[in-house]
Amino acid sequence: MEPADQLAVVSLSRDLTAGYRWTSGRVELPNDGCYISRMRNGIGVSPGVAVGKAYCIHQIFVNPDTRRLEGQETTAELSKYENARDLTAADLQALQAKVKAQVGPEEASIFAVHESILRDPAFTDKVRRWIADEHQTAQAALHRLLNEYTSLFARTKDNYLRERVNDVRDVVVRISAHLSEVLLPESDLDVGPLIVVADELLPSQAVALGDIEVKAIVTQAGSQTSHAAIIARSRGIPAVSGVRGILRQVNNGDTLVVDGRSGKVVVRPNAETESAYRKLEREFFDLKDELVANRDSPALTGDGEAIELQANINNLADTRAAIAMGGSGVGLYRTEYLFLDHPSVPDEEEQLTTYCDIINAAPGKSVTIRTLDIGGDKTVPYLGHDHAEANPFMGWRSIRLSFEHPEFFHTQIRAILRAAGEVEDASVKLLFPMVTTLEEMNRLRSMVRRVCRHLDEENKTYRKVPIGMMLEVPAAAISIDSMLHVVDYISIGSNDLVQYLMAADRDNPKVSHLCQPLAPPVLRVLANVIRSCRRGQKPVTLCGEMAGQPRAFVVLLAMGLRSFSMSPAFIPSIKELASHVTDEDCKRILRKALSLRTTANVNRYLGEELQQIAPGLSILDTI
Ligand code: PEP
Ligand code: MG
Repeated sequence: MEPADQLAVVSLSRDLTAGYRWTSGRVELPNDGCYISRMRNGIGVSPGVAVGKAYCIHQIFVNPDTRRLEGQETTAELSKYENARDLTAADLQALQAKVKAQVGPEEASIFAVHESILRDPAFTDKVRRWIADEHQTAQAALHRLLNEYTSLFARTKDNYLRERVNDVRDVVVRISAHLSEVLLPESDLDVGPLIVVADELLPSQAVALGDIEVKAIVTQAGSQTSHAAIIARSRGIPAVSGVRGILRQVNNGDTLVVDGRSGKVVVRPNAETESAYRKLEREFFDLKDELVANRDSPALTGDGEAIELQANINNLADTRAAIAMGGSGVGLYRTEYLFLDHPSVPDEEEQLTTYCDIINAAPGKSVTIRTLDIGGDKTVPYLGHDHAEANPFMGWRSIRLSFEHPEFFHTQIRAILRAAGEVEDASVKLLFPMVTTLEEMNRLRSMVRRVCRHLDEENKTYRKVPIGMMLEVPAAAISIDSMLHVVDYISIGSNDLVQYLMAADRDNPKVSHLCQPLAPPVLRVLANVIRSCRRGQKPVTLCGEMAGQPRAFVVLLAMGLRSFSMSPAFIPSIKELASHVTDEDCKRILRKALSLRTTANVNRYLGEELQQIAPGLSILDTI
């Protein structure tokens, strides 16, 4: 039995009147009594605590009904299948219309793709045949079909095509849900807030989650940067990933406790555990409400020094969240999300419109626009991703790819500069990802100059904007002093920088113990980069996930960083935290944190500091 599957004994006091001890938002359970709960450990990927009813998205696949149908059952099963298919088609059409109206046509187009999969005769004829001729249940036939597609897609070398199996799975899950009369999230509005339990979150489920009240997310797969984690953080809901096999232990409607700080999930907690965590959950909500109230106040340190808290966004909806959470601008707009679902390169006018919309919606019309960061884990077929790479994160990605598609690259730069000029009072910055060498940066600058020349010749309205680089490759970090001569500002991409420094894939849960932003060598590199930028008087910001993590934020502040960009949901708590940290704290923290030799020691030390500095915020701390 894997350790994570073992039953954990939670010892609780039977004496309710004795109550629990609360130390700054953490519950301490007295060690007598012997109620047994099933406690599972995963990775806390979005802080906070939630107690609620489980909604299992993949439950239907855990045990498909594999018995052989008898007599009349076959005909009844066929008509059940057809009915589920019709309901699925109706769902997909409704979703297309709704997402198009609420989010945009690109996001909606994925449901058109799903509808064409559903209507593909190759897809549905097989299921019908297996039910009619082989007397399988519709669920079992769908399960078999999915397995067939999964091995078929796994054989292709095209990353983009390989990932499309998720779309097939999405459609199959949707039909299955109708078959088993399990409500899908988008039709679950009347069920109340739920805790979504899934193997991983599929793209359409992610969009659909926008509609229902989700209290927390638990996934079997995933890591800090998985779909589920990103969505949870952007919506400010607790989430735990990497809880292997939890779908086998949870049924729809079971009560779950999710602690997104420690990565703990309690399945069917006893009354005492439940009530202890409900109290914590209320504290979490109250705190969040209280903190959002600070959205219009300035972000200041404990000594009154101004800091900049900006938002990372992928689309227009995130931009609205940036405003709602009190961000002072958009510090990172990941433009690749505009391209991922697009059948071909969006043309200049389409890009221009999107960028103008984002700038107009952004706080202070201030947006740092990053050029396409495709490759690694994200591919698009029309930019030449027709071969699998052995090492995609170290391969042909970001500007390395853009350089080989000058026609596309020029178009994107043109659209960005034109948007900067067309929106009145816009404050736009251009940001290039994955810059490794000085030569690359020089080449980028001369490309921008050429684009400006052409725009001048064509008499187009545009604006020259500051040009910056993402500092996410160790080579660039080592040569920071030379890099500073050729950039207007630096944006530290710690997600990638950490994975490259530690040689540990940021998406692989097996090496997540190494891919740690608080690892001593990472801290040393960050301190050095920040010091160099300050000395060279070049603006520096950090836009990786660590900016929104309280322990990491405190140590970055101590290093002298004053500009941060993060998931919008983290802005209120980080603003509050910053207001408790003084210069004196910073000096002490920097000295001590840089003297510690292990990640565990740094982590423990910063956790203790947080408890001292802002005890009321520890519920938002991830462990
Ligand atoms: C980063 O690497 O830190 C970053 C912000 O970029 P992305 O997560 O898009 O790679
Ligand atoms: Mg990056």
